[in-house]
Amino acid sequence: FNNINLDNINEIAKLHYPLCMKVIHDVLRKEHHLKYDCKMQYGIFLKCLGLSYEDAMVFWKTEFTKKINQDWFDRKYAYLFKHQYGKVGGMIQYRPYSCDQILNNCPHAGQYHGCPFKHWDIDKLLQKCEDNGLEFGDINDIRTLVTNNKFKEACTVYFYGSHKVIRGDIISSPNEYFEKSYEIES
Ligand code: SF4
Repeated sequence: FNNINLDNINEIAKLHYPLCMKVIHDVLRKEHHLKYDCKMQYGIFLKCLGLSYEDAMVFWKTEFTKKINQDWFDRKYAYLFKHQYGKVGGMIQYRPYSCDQILNNCPHAGQYHGCPFKHWDIDKLLQKCEDNGLEFGDINDIRTLVTNNKFKEACTVYFYGSHKVIRGDIISSPNEYFEKSYEIES
């Protein structure tokens, strides 16, 4: 998949993002700012989905400069996004975050990174599942799995339940979730 761009990113987020990325995307659109862990979790996800470096810089700059001026963005924030694309610093070629990495990075109050299946209050999570059209049986299974610390399995039930297809392999990364979703819907 290398079809994500500034024009279709909202639609793609709505159709194909796992909850962990959808939440961050929505917060960014609403608050025009994200803290470090969110910028890393979401920025690497986007890069690995194939969002180009040029589009990524426009994407982040457009959102952030709704709250701060361009000069401040260039001085304070641009470096991290350049770094994510291997353009500065250690020229690291990042690989997609796995669910396990995200599950182990617990957010504090006011932070939005992490995995909703592990880090959200269960009632809020189940309400979200209901709002997103999951059936009663799936919501019940998600409750049981989360209670038993089976977070990826709960996300997998969410995935197949929201696409209304028979359950299959367990999701192990947000990028895998995205690719499976794209495959099913296209
Ligand atoms: Fe994201 Fe993985 Fe959590 Fe699903 S299980 S919401 S893909 S971190």
